[in-house]
Amino acid sequence: MEINQIINNFIQIANSPDKAIKQSCERNHKNAVGCVAPYAPEEIIYAANCIPVGLWGGEVELRKARTYLPAFACSIMQSVMEYETKGTYDILKAVLIPAMCDTLKCFGQKWKGACPAIPFVYPQNRRVKSAELFLENEYKSITKKLEDILNVDITEKALKESIILYNDYRLAMREFTEIAAVHTTTISPTVRHQIIKASYFIDKKEYLCYIRELNEKLRLQPVEHSKNKRVVVSGIMLEPKGILSHFESLGIDVVGDDLAQETRQFMTDVPFAGDALKSLARQWINHNACSLAFDPYKQRIQHLVDLVHHFKADGVVLALMKFCDPEEYDVPIIMSKMKEENIPLLVIEIDQQAKAFEQINTRLQGFVESMDD
Ligand code: SF4
Repeated sequence: MEINQIINNFIQIANSPDKAIKQSCERNHKNAVGCVAPYAPEEIIYAANCIPVGLWGGEVELRKARTYLPAFACSIMQSVMEYETKGTYDILKAVLIPAMCDTLKCFGQKWKGACPAIPFVYPQNRRVKSAELFLENEYKSITKKLEDILNVDITEKALKESIILYNDYRLAMREFTEIAAVHTTTISPTVRHQIIKASYFIDKKEYLCYIRELNEKLRLQPVEHSKNKRVVVSGIMLEPKGILSHFESLGIDVVGDDLAQETRQFMTDVPFAGDALKSLARQWINHNACSLAFDPYKQRIQHLVDLVHHFKADGVVLALMKFCDPEEYDVPIIMSKMKEENIPLLVIEIDQQAKAFEQINTRLQGFVESMDD
């Protein structure tokens, strides 16, 4: 396939998740299991011969969600709740819900979709020995529940194969972000986002073939010397799409990210630790530089500085999810570190229900001008 064809394929998948999931399930004779953002052991779902589907909300008008969630619940979970009540997720056979923050702790008990929910806990104090064992037991429980719901056996062999596939996918994605950073004309901010987003809606084996082919073809293209401003974006996610279109009209390229929906998904491989579930649990213990994984040393802050230097970025845009406590705690530290390092920083608020982005546009415009100084 030509580069444009591969990119268009990704865009279609990202723009029509329902259709993409249905078709991928049919092609591969699989069922779909949902993973409420941000993290889930997708490898267990894959080993159950199902397609893990990421639930990251979307641009939906809130009608019923507010009946079940307080107005101060983050905008992403408001959208997920709205979709639940509309029946959007009825295609799923089960859904995993991580108790990652206060909103998600309640969310696991409020699932309104048609399929069963499997709430589980990621231990926050990851430096005590019991953390890994605790998570391994959580994963055992998820495995057992999925076996019962789906009427399948999840074997150790299938789990190990699934881990290998996912580590291959992670490597290909890290390669993609590197290659995309020097092809920012072809891989515009919106295209970059949609390519990564598409991974949530089809079988990972299929996705891996497409992304490897894209990487291969992009590598053969000359490096693109864009005159645009280069930024690293950080936060939970950078949507709605209307925001990214302002990046493009103002001449801002996204050269790297620290988004939970994007790079944080594939930055930590699953190590080999003997048993498959133990290996999966150890991945969480090794997962650093993330606002959602408790870290008294706040490695995320230095990680952001390193990303700026690595990608030769002109600045950082922090996309702050409305009412997301774990992200908000990091903002003052990020602000003072960026000031100390003389790195321009812009904080914008992300609200999936927002319809107009003129205020963000004006602030981005000012930010571009400040990077010229
Ligand atoms: S509050 Fe933050 S971490 Fe919790 S669900 Fe919302 S976006 Fe995710």
